[in-house]
Amino acid sequence: MPEISIVVPCYNEEASLPLFYREITRVAAEMDYADFEFVFIDDGSEDNTLPTLRRLAAADRRVRFVSFSRNFGKEAGMLAGLEAATGDYVALMDADLQDPPALLPELYKAVTEEGYDCAATRRTTREGEPPIRSFCARMFYKIINKISDADIVDGARDYRLMRRSMVDAILSLREYNRFSKGIFGWVGFKTKWVPYVNVERVAGETKWSFWKLFRYSLEGIVAFSTVPLALASVLGVLVCLAAFVFVVVVLVKTLAFGDPVGGWPSMMCVILFLGGVQLLCIGILGQYLSKTYLETKRRPVYLVRETEEGVK
Ligand code: UDP
Ligand code: MG
Repeated sequence: MPEISIVVPCYNEEASLPLFYREITRVAAEMDYADFEFVFIDDGSEDNTLPTLRRLAAADRRVRFVSFSRNFGKEAGMLAGLEAATGDYVALMDADLQDPPALLPELYKAVTEEGYDCAATRRTTREGEPPIRSFCARMFYKIINKISDADIVDGARDYRLMRRSMVDAILSLREYNRFSKGIFGWVGFKTKWVPYVNVERVAGETKWSFWKLFRYSLEGIVAFSTVPLALASVLGVLVCLAAFVFVVVVLVKTLAFGDPVGGWPSMMCVILFLGGVQLLCIGILGQYLSKTYLETKRRPVYLVRETEEGVK
């Protein structure tokens, strides 16, 4: 029988894990035409997530887990899960049941019968989200799709089921700064989009604040586009053109009407404006430089402390 690996990154999910486990095993029992493996990643949780996982693994041999030495973030968790997964098909899923396991049969059908390499989900509504966040999210998707060749779908979740070949393609991208939404789009392959209505998390609370999301989106842009780097050149050309026009105006004015000294306020405006533009461009350079710096260190994306086989 084909094997499906379910990869679940967990950070402080002691409240949702039992509910998740109950639901996923129910769905797995329904899908009796496939074998299952559940790979949980404990992303340095401070609550009882790890003991819960130990308990689940002791009771059910399909359960495996990887526990990090500290919190490395969801990206690291997903990478560790994809690396640990052995199945012919691999699904990524959140532990809070916001990615309904009940969709699995449909996703599985898309990759096994309909000729897709991947079946991914996107939510159709952003209900229950603050309007400012929805607005920023939409802007982000517009911008990043314009300036990068990773095609990122608005509302796409990380919840997806992939064939082994696509998983291997994703694992072949060895970058340190991982932005999965971009990586999934960048590797290509045939993806079927399955829309579903947004579900609230069952227990616990979200780990994403507005600023965390904002920083994450900037990282996505730096990781998948070099267009911001060209901003300095474009602005430079524009400023040169403006300066040229200004020179002509000043020359003509001085020759025709003499030279009444003045214009301190306008000079301050120009100086401050150019100073701002320069700092902005240096800042953008800094962003790329810092990412390059981190890439060149070649640090591991995560460190493992314990697995279902015991403490390392
Ligand atoms: N998560 C993780 N490491 C983190 C933050 C989150 O592994 O540092 C996991 C979390 O346990 C959950 C999934 O990533 O399974 C999505 O997190 P969350 O529900 O907080 O995000 P949201 O659904 O609000 O986008
Ligand atoms: Mg969630």
